[in-house]
Amino acid sequence: MKKAECEASGLNGKWFADMEERIPRGGARTRFAPSPTGFMHLGGMRTALYAYLLAKSMGGKFFLRIEDTDRARLVEGAAEAIPATLRGAGLLFDEGPDIGGPAAPYVQSERREFYRPYAELLCERGAAYYCFCGHVDHEGRDHAEHGLVSREEDPCRALPYAQGKRRAEAEAHVVRMKAPREGTTTFHDEVFGDVTVENASLDDMVLLKSDGLPTYNFANVIDDHLMGTTHVLRGDEYISSAPKYTLLYKALGWDEPVYITVSRIMRDERHKLSKRHGDPTYEDLLGEGFLPEAIINYIALLGWSPGGERELYTLAELEEVFSVKGISKSPALFDKAKLRHFNAEYIRAKAPGDFAALAEPYIRQAVKTPDVSIPEIAAILQPRCERLADIGDMIGFIDRLPDYSAEMFVHKKSKCDKSVALDMLLEALIAFQNAPDWAEGTIRAELAGIAERHGVKNATVMWPVRVAVSGMAVTPGGAVELCRILGRYETLGRVGAAIERLSAEGTAW
Ligand code: GLU
Repeated sequence: MKKAECEASGLNGKWFADMEERIPRGGARTRFAPSPTGFMHLGGMRTALYAYLLAKSMGGKFFLRIEDTDRARLVEGAAEAIPATLRGAGLLFDEGPDIGGPAAPYVQSERREFYRPYAELLCERGAAYYCFCGHVDHEGRDHAEHGLVSREEDPCRALPYAQGKRRAEAEAHVVRMKAPREGTTTFHDEVFGDVTVENASLDDMVLLKSDGLPTYNFANVIDDHLMGTTHVLRGDEYISSAPKYTLLYKALGWDEPVYITVSRIMRDERHKLSKRHGDPTYEDLLGEGFLPEAIINYIALLGWSPGGERELYTLAELEEVFSVKGISKSPALFDKAKLRHFNAEYIRAKAPGDFAALAEPYIRQAVKTPDVSIPEIAAILQPRCERLADIGDMIGFIDRLPDYSAEMFVHKKSKCDKSVALDMLLEALIAFQNAPDWAEGTIRAELAGIAERHGVKNATVMWPVRVAVSGMAVTPGGAVELCRILGRYETLGRVGAAIERLSAEGTAW
């Protein structure tokens, strides 16, 4: 609607004119518009990411709008968690409700006065009507859709505007869209192309509920226009509602934004990713020790491709290369093993001090022994850790030597059997007792010295020591690093215990 048109309108003309004046102009403007109904699903996070990337790749603005008009579906704390989650992932939004003010989300429930005037304008134009049938409850759930009252039977659709308006002043009502009965509606989507539906298939959806709040379907159209949204990115579950949005834009005389619909994320060929079926949300993945930057990189590629083989991109690099052309129409398959691989890459790329800071809470939880060195433990974990939550299992041996079978000393490749292991451990015990200090270099030299004196490979000495001190076949770090971390006293105790065990078994060999 143009300014002059607003002012000419019989309804709150000045109000419309002011609203339209506020619309920020110029450049791309994208939004993430979640309903705060629970956790951040990976699909939602990906929509937020694509909206952010699109704005940034075009030098535009990205903003956040909390769509909380369906009060029955609200989950406590969810609305507050969303901005923090986005910020934690680096998806910073650019503005707040006061255009140009500090970055904060727009919240639809705080904007309730913005919607009714447009609903009334649509009634006045014959594109909507006041409905008094009482088959819509306070949350906008339409009992007609459940077979209680069919659309055709809705007598309010035929009420003359003036009559409806008069009754609406005194009676409880909702406002419904008057979907045309004939013809077709087409909208264009950048990913799905032209989508055409028969108007007869469209219902008279509720725009304003009896509590005065708009439904999501109405508020998103009004807000996308008032907030100057240029590109709307959303999940494919909205594709069936999109023709109704097109009709609203037309009735209001507004240009539609560019639609970019992204396909769903699947757990397997037939099932959509779903929290209810045990699939992880974004927060679950953080809780498992996946790094936000690894998740972001991974989900960027779930349904979008930059072309070529390269897979690792920081957020800043994604901002450079993102383009709508790379978005795929086919559903994407979530592959956790691949995410682990991405995460391991991001862990390895961290500066040692930064990784130690991230790993510290996990290390402290797993290791209660005092005097362990967090940086040293972190250093052995960093090259091998795929997920921070695996740290507990990787270093649990520090506090408590697990039960292990003496068969573990047998290792063909290291040319070690139980008798060789016993010899090597006896030597190691003496060398460790006599070592001048407990530096890594000293421990290594002592063990290498044993190998040399016996004319065996280093591995023949390292293997039994590693098993004796860790009780594990796969360890973070080799024998030398493990001994160093455990300290001389604990190492001697564990090597001594292994010797006792092997000696006791000796008669049976
Ligand atoms: N509030 C909708 C949701 O939570 C947003 C859909 C849209 O982006 O328009 O999915």
